[in-house]
Amino acid sequence: MDNLWREDEARSLEGIDLLVYRSRLIGRDSRLVLWGGGNTSLKHDETDFRGRSVRVMRIKGSGTDLKSIGPEGFPGIRLDDLEPLLERQAMEDQEMVDYLVRCLVDPGSLRPSIETLLHGFLPFPHVDHTHADAVLALTNTVDGRRHVREVYGEESAWVPYRRPGFLLSRQVADAVRSAPKARGVVLEKHGLITWGGTARESYETTIAMNTRAEEHARDRARGRVVFGGMAVPAIDPAARRRVVTRLAPPLRGRLARGAGGEARRPVVLKFDDADDILEFIGSEAGPQLALAGPATPDHLMYTRPRPLVARIPPGADLRTEEGIAALGKSLAADFDKYNDWYALYVRKHTAGPATAAGPGPAADLDPRVILIPGVGLLAAGRDGRRAAMVAEIYHHTIAVLRAASGLGTYESLALKDCFDIETWPLEIYRMSLAPPGRDLSGRVALVTGAAGGIGRAIARRFAAEGCHVAVTDRDEPGARALADELGSAHGPGRAFATRLDVADEADVRRAFDQTILAWGGIDIVVSNAGFAHAAPVDRMALADWEKSFAVNATGHFLVARETLRILKDQNTGGTLIVNASKNVLAPGKDFAAYSAAKAAATQLARIVAIEGGEHGIRANILNPDAVFQDSALWSAEVREERARAHGIAPGDLEEFYRKRNLLRTRVTAEDVAEAALWLASDRSAKTTGCILTIDGGVREGFPR
Ligand code: ZN
Repeated sequence: MDNLWREDEARSLEGIDLLVYRSRLIGRDSRLVLWGGGNTSLKHDETDFRGRSVRVMRIKGSGTDLKSIGPEGFPGIRLDDLEPLLERQAMEDQEMVDYLVRCLVDPGSLRPSIETLLHGFLPFPHVDHTHADAVLALTNTVDGRRHVREVYGEESAWVPYRRPGFLLSRQVADAVRSAPKARGVVLEKHGLITWGGTARESYETTIAMNTRAEEHARDRARGRVVFGGMAVPAIDPAARRRVVTRLAPPLRGRLARGAGGEARRPVVLKFDDADDILEFIGSEAGPQLALAGPATPDHLMYTRPRPLVARIPPGADLRTEEGIAALGKSLAADFDKYNDWYALYVRKHTAGPATAAGPGPAADLDPRVILIPGVGLLAAGRDGRRAAMVAEIYHHTIAVLRAASGLGTYESLALKDCFDIETWPLEIYRMSLAPPGRDLSGRVALVTGAAGGIGRAIARRFAAEGCHVAVTDRDEPGARALADELGSAHGPGRAFATRLDVADEADVRRAFDQTILAWGGIDIVVSNAGFAHAAPVDRMALADWEKSFAVNATGHFLVARETLRILKDQNTGGTLIVNASKNVLAPGKDFAAYSAAKAAATQLARIVAIEGGEHGIRANILNPDAVFQDSALWSAEVREERARAHGIAPGDLEEFYRKRNLLRTRVTAEDVAEAALWLASDRSAKTTGCILTIDGGVREGFPR
C-alpha cells in the first residue's frame, strides 16, 4: 500500500484544507474505501457566528465521496454539545440523527455521516475510518480476532460486529480506553479506525496498519491455491461479447419489470470480464464462495446479500447460438430461484406475519450482480454510473475473498445482519442521496446521424434528461466530439460514439451490439440519418436515386429491424422515432429521390407501430421542415437547388421558409429535439403511429 503523502503539497495547508487533502489521499485508493464509504474528521477550535471560540469537529457529510470531497463536504459539529452523549447508555438512531443536526455549527450544512459518533467519542484530533480490503480479509475469516491479534498485537483494539450507531460508537470509545497501546481499532466485518496528533500521523497510521494486514495475508497465502483449479475456462473475448449481446436485453427487461412484473424502474447493466472476475467465477470454489455473502454493510448496499450465479447447462457450448439459447433458458430459471431465495430471506427475517409487503427491500427481490462462468459479470444499477460502482465493488469483494481464503475460511456478514442493514432507515437515506430522476433517467437511446444538426440536438436533449446515448454517425470524429461533450457535461459513461453507415447491414448490427455491451439494452431509437439529393426526375441518375433509397429508406429499415428484435427480447416496450420530412406530405419539385424514400420510411414506421403494438413498442414520425442549423442535409448544392426551385437567391432561403409557414417562425434543431423528447418519454405513452410536425405550420403539410 503506497504512502501518497507529499509534504511539499501539504505544508501550506491547515485546518479543513489539510483535512480535505488527507481525505482525498485516502479516497484515491479504492483498496481503502469504496464509493462514498469511509470517513475522516478533524477536531479543532473555530470562531462561531458571535465571535466566540468553540471546539468543533469537522466530519464527512452523508452522501459525499472521499476522493472528490471539498471543504463544504465537512459539516461542523459543536463538541460541547456532542460530548455529553458519552454519559448515555443508549440512544435510538433517529434520536441520534436529530440530536446531531442540533449540534451543527451551520444549520444549512450537509447532514453529518451516520458514523459521526465513532469519531466524536474518540479523544484524538484527527481520525480516519476506512473499510480496507486488507483489514476485511482478517476480520472476515473464521477466527478473525486471532488473525488481527497476530498482525497487530496490542497495537489494535477489537470490536465485534454491530450495526453503526450509538452503541457501536460507545463500544469503540470503551475499547480505546482499555487499550492504551492501541494505534487503531479493528471493527469486525466493517473496517479500521486510526488516529493521530497530526493529519499526517493519522494518514500514515492508516497506511501502515493496512500494509501490515496486506503483507500478512500475502505471506499466509504463499503456495496456496486459493480458489481451486479452473472448472469453467473463459471463452474467447468475441464469444463472451456475443453471449452478452444476446442475453443482456432479456435480463435487463426482467430487472426493469421487477419480481412482481408490474414495476418499471430504470436499470442499466454494466458488463465486466476482467481477468480477476473470469478467474474467480470460473474456478472450482468460486461459485460456492460467491454465495457466501457480503463482507460488510457497505458491500451489501451495492451488491445485495448474494449475486446470481448462473449455471452453465451441461454440454452447452457458449460459442454457438444453441449454447447461448440453452444458457438463456437456464438463466431465466436461475433468476426465478434467486427471487424465491430472496423472498424466503425476507420472510425469515421479517418480524411478524410472513407478507411480501415488509419494509425496504421486500418489493425488490432482484440481484445486482450476475456472474456467468466463462463469460463475466453483469452489474445492475439505476444508471451507468451506479452499475459501474456495483461492478467495481465486486472486484473488491473478490479481493477480500481471495485474501481471506488464503488465510483460512472466509466468513461473511450474517444474513440477519444483512437484512437489518437493508431495511435500516439511515442506510436507505444514505443510498437515496442521488439526484432525482429525470424524464429519461436510466434509459438508453441510440441516435443515428447524431454528429450534427437535428441528431446532435436530440442527443444533447436526451442526455440532459438523464438518458445514456449511443452517438452514431458516418462522421466518426464528429460523433466522438459530441460523445466527449456529453461525457463531460453529464459524467463519464453516459455516451459513446461509433461510426455507423445506416445503409450497411453489418454495421447497423454492430452499433446496436455495442450499445447493448455498454448498457445492457436499449429503450429509444432515433432513426435520423438522412441524405438529400435534388434533381428533376428526367435528369436524375439511377445511382442518385438508389443512394437516396439506401440511406433514406433501407437505412431506416435496417435500424427499425434491429430495434424491434432487441425491444421484443427485452420486453419492456420501447420507442422508435423516425425522422421523416414535411416532403412526405407536401412533396416539392426536384426532390423525388428524397421525398419518395422518406415516404417509404414513414410507411415503414407505421407498420412498426402496427407490429410493435402488442409488445408495447411505439413508433412515431417527426416531420420537421427547413431546419438549416448546422445541418449536413442542407449542403451548398442542395441550398442552390432549392433556391432555384423556388426562384429565389440561396441567401434568401431561410427567410423564404420562415415567411412561408403559418407562424412566420424559424424552426430550430432544438425545436425538433423537444418533440423527439416528448415522443421518447412516457409522457407520450398513448401515442403511436403518429406524425408530429415541427414546421411552424405548413398548410400543405398537414397530416391527413
Ligand atoms: Zn464504516
